[in-house]
Amino acid sequence: MVDCLFCKIVKKEIPSYKVYEDKEFIAFLDIGPVNKGHTLVMPKNHSETFLDMNERELGKIMHFIQKVARAVVQGTKADGFNLMLNNKRAAGQLVDHAHFHIIPRFHSDGFKHWPQGKYQGNEAQQIADEIKRFL
Ligand code: 5GP
Ligand code: ZN
Repeated sequence: MVDCLFCKIVKKEIPSYKVYEDKEFIAFLDIGPVNKGHTLVMPKNHSETFLDMNERELGKIMHFIQKVARAVVQGTKADGFNLMLNNKRAAGQLVDHAHFHIIPRFHSDGFKHWPQGKYQGNEAQQIADEIKRFL
């Protein structure tokens, strides 16, 4: 993709702090880290969103992510990490080249998790049924 920022990083037209790559995937530091060591992992092949990635790639990228996540935790002495993917604008996806975030986390970082809601009546059953229709 000519105008894709992350394709340009893959082609080294834009510099990045790469931490690891193989033939199909690349891991590099996020330019605006939530915590230092925040790393992005993505397929080199352009897919706009997670749902556009092919099955073969998806199967392989999890192994790659696990290897990089272990190194991120060790290299930053993190107490844990979040593995995250923003899918489309509504979910905060700003760069349209599918990528996972590995965010090192520390007991001391003070970040709170998502607010949680509650289901009313049979709402949970209805929503589960709606989802199941597509599986
Ligand atoms: P998204 O919101 O699409 O899930 O995540 C995009 C991420 O890319 C953001 O966390 C942002 O900081 C990071 N980012 C944006 N531009 C660049 C860049 O030029 N280089 C690097 N390394 N990261 C970038
Ligand atoms: Zn791309």
